[in-house]
Amino acid sequence: MSGSAVNPIRARGIRKSFGALEVLKGVDLDLAKGEVLCILGPSGSGKSTLLRCINHLERPDGGMIEFNGVPVGYRRSGDAFHELPEREIQKQRAAMGMVFQRFNLFPHLTARQNIMEAPRRVLRLSAAEASQRAERLMKQVGLAEKIDTYPGALSGGQQQRVAIARALAMEPSVMLFDEPTSALDPELVGEVLDVMRSLADSHAMSMIVVTHEIGFARSVADRVMFMDGGVVVEQGKPQDVLVNPEHERTRTFLRRIL
Ligand code: ADP
Ligand code: MG
Repeated sequence: MSGSAVNPIRARGIRKSFGALEVLKGVDLDLAKGEVLCILGPSGSGKSTLLRCINHLERPDGGMIEFNGVPVGYRRSGDAFHELPEREIQKQRAAMGMVFQRFNLFPHLTARQNIMEAPRRVLRLSAAEASQRAERLMKQVGLAEKIDTYPGALSGGQQQRVAIARALAMEPSVMLFDEPTSALDPELVGEVLDVMRSLADSHAMSMIVVTHEIGFARSVADRVMFMDGGVVVEQGKPQDVLVNPEHERTRTFLRRIL
């Protein structure tokens, strides 16, 4: 199947419980090629769990997730579903770049070394190739001059830009951002959003962005999805969901954060 016709992500009926707590109650999600999807919702609504299921950091209890046309099914008792060998799961995970709230760079490695690590180990790039890739990506996130700096000597915003460069170094087909600016001092939020905005503007990357930055969602997202209580309450164009939401739960949430 040709890659261009297939949605990078197609999830259906994703369910996940932690003990008695049902966190995802049957979530559908589609991401088209080059699309930017922003997910909003109150704390505890299941946004991180949904991203972690898509990225195979959590195993759903039920449902199906297709990544670039390759399905992984999750079994409740009696259901016959595709299961994917661990090696294939790892391959899928390597093709998804993830950026978390907390910059999780290796503290004992420079920015260059942080970026080179996965391309060297997983893609088996030569040191010269990986180093060149690190230089190109550090330029892309506006930090060319910091390439041989350790994370401890970088601001939170700069660390998060390096984390984005590191994720991009695997040349992923999708990028997943989980509140990438929530842990930052307010004055450092803009530089990270700018890097994400330019990635979106290139139309070369499909992105899911969990964020409370409404301005970013309004100006960058192709589609906005509002989650509450483990379900998708509504989704649509930013001007519809953010300006004229259909549901009272969405209105209440937006009133609270604006
Ligand atoms: P959000 O990202 O929207 O704030 P999460 O997906 O992080 O929501 O969490 C949804 C709910 O699931 C929360 O009540 C959270 O405490 C719970 N939860 C998340 N991960 C775990 C876990 N590993 N074990 C137990 N409960 C969890
Ligand atoms: Mg979260």
